[in-house]
Amino acid sequence: MKTPIQLFDPVSSTYTYLMFDEVSRDAIIIDPVHEQLQRDLAVLKQYGVRLKYVAETHAHADHITSAAALIEHTGAIAATPMFCGVLPAALQLKDGDVLSFGSQSIKALHTPGHTAGSMCFLWQSNVFTGDTLLIGGCGRTDFQSGSASSLYDSIFQVLFELPENTIVWPAHDYKGNCQSTIANEMKSNPRLVNEQGVRRTKDEFIALMNALNLPKPKRIDEAVPANMLLGLHHDAGANDMSIDTIQPAANYAGDISPELAYQWMLSGAATLVDIRSHAERAWVGFIPDVVGIEWKSWPGMTTNNDFDAQLKAAVPASGKVMLLCRSGARSIPAAQKAQTLGFEAYNILEGFEGDPDGEAHRGNKGGWRYRGLPWRQN
Ligand code: FE
Repeated sequence: MKTPIQLFDPVSSTYTYLMFDEVSRDAIIIDPVHEQLQRDLAVLKQYGVRLKYVAETHAHADHITSAAALIEHTGAIAATPMFCGVLPAALQLKDGDVLSFGSQSIKALHTPGHTAGSMCFLWQSNVFTGDTLLIGGCGRTDFQSGSASSLYDSIFQVLFELPENTIVWPAHDYKGNCQSTIANEMKSNPRLVNEQGVRRTKDEFIALMNALNLPKPKRIDEAVPANMLLGLHHDAGANDMSIDTIQPAANYAGDISPELAYQWMLSGAATLVDIRSHAERAWVGFIPDVVGIEWKSWPGMTTNNDFDAQLKAAVPASGKVMLLCRSGARSIPAAQKAQTLGFEAYNILEGFEGDPDGEAHRGNKGGWRYRGLPWRQN
């Protein structure tokens, strides 16, 4: 592919981009939006691709990312700009870092200004400009460590040094524009050139940016803290449930609480399978004597075929199986898969950890570990 798949969230006017390698089917997504999680999972499925990286151009103030949820569902790795300080991201990107997916690669360009950590991503002859450069505009610089002076340098010394036919894909557009080019923005972006088409000086640009007087973004107080955790604890709206209720679910037998799972495990009514990676189990802890079968993770670690075969070896044919992951998200597709293999499959809500800080996550107080159910650490 030469053109990214451009997806749009109409509420925040955010563009999300998906690229993949046509041979290996490894994919990368940039700036995914929480509310569009189901759409994005469906798009990944539609193209038959495996998500390798979830990348963010910066810690957004206007929407919440679905990065953590995508990681849970797909085993992808989060890549965020180092200076954004998004600590749960496995990859902390520095200027010039390259992310490879199949034979494709994408290069991170540090472009401070909208925020101090902001990055753009270069892929083939495309640049994903985040909020650094918008079509006929640029990101604001009046909050979140913004600096008009740095933004000017990032645009003129980094982006406008790219070949002029480089296609510009911004993180937002509010007027229905989809893409531009470096040449167009150099020629006609009113933030950067004056009415006579002459490049603005840095002082002019700073004065212009300082005079914008924009209202505070509506969701900033909610979005920035959530995005600093990859959207990890943003899971509002799910219901509290009593210990022995089974909640109906689509394409598998149901959702159950950790307590009910423990009861079934003790009574032998069902087999509990921990689908976290071996590394997660070793690091965080595990339930004694429980089978561990890694759910599809990043390439090279395990495959779905391994999962199927190991599950069949561990659980009696057509028996009840309960799937446990870290937060309760990966165990959903795993339960759906187990159901197709002929098992009566349940998803354990909130996973092993659930919500470590005890705040409302799926309306409850955390998962296995935080509910005092037995577990051990290596
Ligand atoms: Fe932004």
